[in-house]
Amino acid sequence: MPKCPFCGAELNHLVVHELVCTKHAYKVHSNGQWEWQYDDEKGREYTVFCPECYEEIPLHNCISDVEDFLDEEYIILRSDDPEIKRKGGLALFRGKVYKVIDESDDGLLYLELVEDETVADIIGAGLE
Ligand SMILES: [Zn+2]
Repeated sequence: MPKCPFCGAELNHLVVHELVCTKHAYKVHSNGQWEWQYDDEKGREYTVFCPECYEEIPLHNCISDVEDFLDEEYIILRSDDPEIKRKGGLALFRGKVYKVIDESDDGLLYLELVEDETVADIIGAGLE
């Protein structure tokens, strides 16, 4: 199960807020009548929260990141998490090998699962 980088809770779900922005275009007549013309969806923004501590998990505005996070293919952890063994741009977490995609100034590591099992085994052995 994925782990919250803030409170450490094991997460079997996330809370997602979706903000939908829509433009409504009207023709407004001098008599005060509003005549609807068209609607135009301007995009959606997703904000993701931990259901335990309600901190915002800084996933990008993309719903596929949410699913990858729950599948532990894309995870975010504190760089000082005692469960991580790290070597340069790679990290071992719970027997799986991850590539370090980004490291933020506030001490969060953004990690992507190394999918190739042979490569992961070789790297993993080196990190044990
Ligand atoms: Zn949390």
